Amino acid sequence: MIPYRIGMGYDIHRLEENRDLIIGGVKIPYEKGLLGHSDADVLIHAIIDALLGAAGLPDIGTIFPDTDEAFKDADSTVLLGKVCDMLSEKGYKIGNIDSNIIAQAPKMMPYIKDMKQRLSEVMNIPAENISVKAKTNEKMDAVGEKLAIEANAAAIIYKE
Ligand code: ZN
Repeated sequence: MIPYRIGMGYDIHRLEENRDLIIGGVKIPYEKGLLGHSDADVLIHAIIDALLGAAGLPDIGTIFPDTDEAFKDADSTVLLGKVCDMLSEKGYKIGNIDSNIIAQAPKMMPYIKDMKQRLSEVMNIPAENISVKAKTNEKMDAVGEKLAIEANAAAIIYKE
């Protein structure tokens, strides 16, 4: 059997006023934030789905339903920590994560180092095994019009 398993995750949240913008566990100063039941950390949600998919577990919406008051305004780093625990209970280790944030504004580049550091702490893997890339959507569609921010992620997990 091949020792590696791959997963992919995708997420999108609307940008709204009177919300904090939290991406990759880092609070980013901006006039709007992402709307969601939890803190709406779009990058962490994509990473969670990549990890769950790799492990063959149900998706984020099944494990942390948005009808459950327990997850209202939940800190997504805590949810990611829980998912990492679920994987290690199944005997999986995380190889590496690759990810994209697609946002027209604000600029993500100044915060990427902090995101990698935060994600590394939460997932307990070296920051060099986490890639976070930032793109715009060339001013096209809802993301390009600054109405939403999107993220996708890929994860490799393995058993020793
Ligand atoms: Zn989400």
